[in-house]
Amino acid sequence: MQDRPAFRLFDTHCHLYHDRLAPDLDAVLLRCQEAGVTDIALPAIDFDTQPLVEELRAICPSAIRLYPMAGIHPTDVPADGVDFGKLEAWAHEPEVVGIGETGLDYYWSRDLVDRQQESLQFHCRLARETGKPIILHVRDSTDDVLRIIREEQDGRLRGIWHCYTGTLDQGLMAVDLNLHLGIGGVLTYPKGGISEWVHALPADRLLLETDAPFLAPVPHRGKRNEPAYVRAVAEKLALLLNRSLEETAALTAANADSLFGA
Ligand SMILES: [Zn+2]
Repeated sequence: MQDRPAFRLFDTHCHLYHDRLAPDLDAVLLRCQEAGVTDIALPAIDFDTQPLVEELRAICPSAIRLYPMAGIHPTDVPADGVDFGKLEAWAHEPEVVGIGETGLDYYWSRDLVDRQQESLQFHCRLARETGKPIILHVRDSTDDVLRIIREEQDGRLRGIWHCYTGTLDQGLMAVDLNLHLGIGGVLTYPKGGISEWVHALPADRLLLETDAPFLAPVPHRGKRNEPAYVRAVAEKLALLLNRSLEETAALTAANADSLFGA
């Protein structure tokens, strides 16, 4: 193997257990190490995520630290509601370091808006009770997500607005609500929007993420995403913040460390 980079990249949002990454997982993990990816947070989608993450932890090289989470993705909330008892037990598991991903997705489905909101509120409760950060998926639902977080915020809630693509005002509002902002592949797209104001956000709230296997950054746009590509996001962010890649990697990794209590 070639020499590893002298910095660490923390991918704060990656579905590494997804079946699209399974066929060549060994190569995916090797490319992570070559790219300097040392930490990967694993937001859950549904109850099936838990055993998949267990399998991953058994085979992942020790040079990469995995961060399991417990949650039901808003598009996976069933019509008859989430089994909250089962979710609560999962959230309290000692290896679980985050609650999500939860949130609201009005793009794929508006049929279950009430169910999605009820689920988000329950995830907020779990995040407060456990002290673990909440992971928010926000799609065509920014006002409702920020409203619910404001209602649920009692000083204990903290978390991540994952794949943040909002306005500067919305980003600052989220920061006021004690949220970090997950910056992913969209930053590298020509119409990425946030590239114009990412420098105006508090640097201590910025995190890197891939959302692999989705939303691959340029130059991999349109293909399967993988955690090693977080480096392309880091490079673009470094450019926009007028910092070196090493500084940007260190900054965002330290932000993630403080959030996950590492
Ligand atoms: Zn996700």
